[in-house]
Amino acid sequence: MNYHLRMRDKQLYQQILGIESPWRVVDVELTAGTEEIRVYIQRTKGVELCCPQCGKSCTGYDVRQREWRHLDTCQFKTILVADVPRAQCSEHGVHQIPVSWAEPGSGFTALFERLVIDWLKEANIKAVATRMGLGWSAVDGIMQRAVKRGLSRREDTEIVRHIGIDEVSFQKRHEYVTVVCDHDRNRVVYLADDRKTTSLDGFYESLSDKQKVCIESASMDMWPAFINATRKHIPDADSKISFDRFHIAKMFNDAIEKVRRAEHKALLSDGDNSMVGSRYYWLQHLGDVSRKRWPDFKALRAIAVKTARAWAIKEHASSLWNYVSRGWAEKAWKKLLGWMSRSQLPAIVKLAKTIRKHLWGIINAIVLGTSNGKSESMNSRIQKVKSSSHGFRNRDRFRNAIYFHLGDLNLYPEPKA
Ligand SMILES: [Zn+2]
Repeated sequence: MNYHLRMRDKQLYQQILGIESPWRVVDVELTAGTEEIRVYIQRTKGVELCCPQCGKSCTGYDVRQREWRHLDTCQFKTILVADVPRAQCSEHGVHQIPVSWAEPGSGFTALFERLVIDWLKEANIKAVATRMGLGWSAVDGIMQRAVKRGLSRREDTEIVRHIGIDEVSFQKRHEYVTVVCDHDRNRVVYLADDRKTTSLDGFYESLSDKQKVCIESASMDMWPAFINATRKHIPDADSKISFDRFHIAKMFNDAIEKVRRAEHKALLSDGDNSMVGSRYYWLQHLGDVSRKRWPDFKALRAIAVKTARAWAIKEHASSLWNYVSRGWAEKAWKKLLGWMSRSQLPAIVKLAKTIRKHLWGIINAIVLGTSNGKSESMNSRIQKVKSSSHGFRNRDRFRNAIYFHLGDLNLYPEPKA
C-alpha cells in the first residue's frame, strides 16, 4: 500500500526542500515496506526554457526523469524525482536545464552532498559509506567532486608569502608525493607526483611573475631537486631557501642512531649490555628526560661515551636556532661544525660536511624565522590523513584526501538554477 500526502503537506515539503517556482512538489509517496519516501517535483508547463550556457530562450528538446538522493525524512530514505527538460540552443546544442537542489550530473541533492562532506571530515570513506547506506565509490565520487570544486574556486592570483615544500611517501615506500604548503594559512596549496625537479616546476609554473616575486621564504629539506627547482623559478632564491629545523633535527637523530648502534654492538661484544633499551633516551632533549631518570641517563652517558658525545652535539645544535643576526648565527654554527668535524664519530663528521655545504640555507631559516615547526605540524597532519584512511590504493586517492582535509578549500556544492 502506498501513502500520499495531502496538499498542505506537499507545500510543507516544498518549503523544507527549498523548491522554488517554476518547480513544485506534486506528490509525496511513502511505499509501505520499503522505508522510502519519493518526492515528485514538477516544472510548471509553458515556462520559458533557457540555455544553461548563454541564457538565451530555447525550445524544448525532450524530458528525462531524474532522481536524487536527499537527506532522510526521519528514518526514511528520501528520493526526489523530477522530469527535467532538455533545452535546444541554436548555438550550444542540447543541454539539460539546471535544477536548484542539485549540481548538474550529481545523483544527490546539494544538501545531501554537504552532509556527506561533513561526515568525510570526521571519518574515512568506508565508514561514511556504511553510515549513509551508500556504496564506497558513491562516497568517493562526492569527495572527488568536492575537491575539484574547491580547487576550481581558488583564486589563482592569491599571494603566498611563506611556502614549505616537503615530500611524503604513500603506502609503498620510495613512492612520493611533493607537497607545497602555505605556512601563513597552514594549508596545502599544491601536490605533485614524485619528488623531482619537474614535480616542483609544476607549482612554480602555475604562478604569475608577481606571485613568484612575492614569495619571501621557501622552506624545505636539503633535497637537491627542490633546491634546483626553486633556484630556477624564484628570483634571489638563495636568500629565500631555508632548510627547516624539523628536517635537520631528523638528520641529527639519524646520525646519533648510527653512532648508538655501532657503540652498542661494540659494548655487547665486550659483554656489556648497558645500552640495551637506551634508544629512546638519545632522541630526547635533556629537558624532556624526567627528573627521576636523570641518574640513569647520567650513568648511561658515562658508559656510552660516543653516543653521549653525539647527543651533546645535537643538544647544542638545537640551541642555535634563535639568532636574529646572520653574522652571529653563522659564527655559532661554524663553531659547532668544527666540533662535529673533530668528534671522531664518522656519522657526525659526515653530517658536518652536509651541513657545511648547506649552511647558507640554515642561516636563512634562522634569520627569516621559518624554523617554527610549521613543516613538522603539516607533515604530521598528512600522516594522520594517511593512517585514518588505512593507506591509499593509489596516489590520486592520496592526493585527493590531502586536498580534501588540508587544502582549506570551499568544498560544498552550490547549485544554481
Ligand atoms: Zn546557448
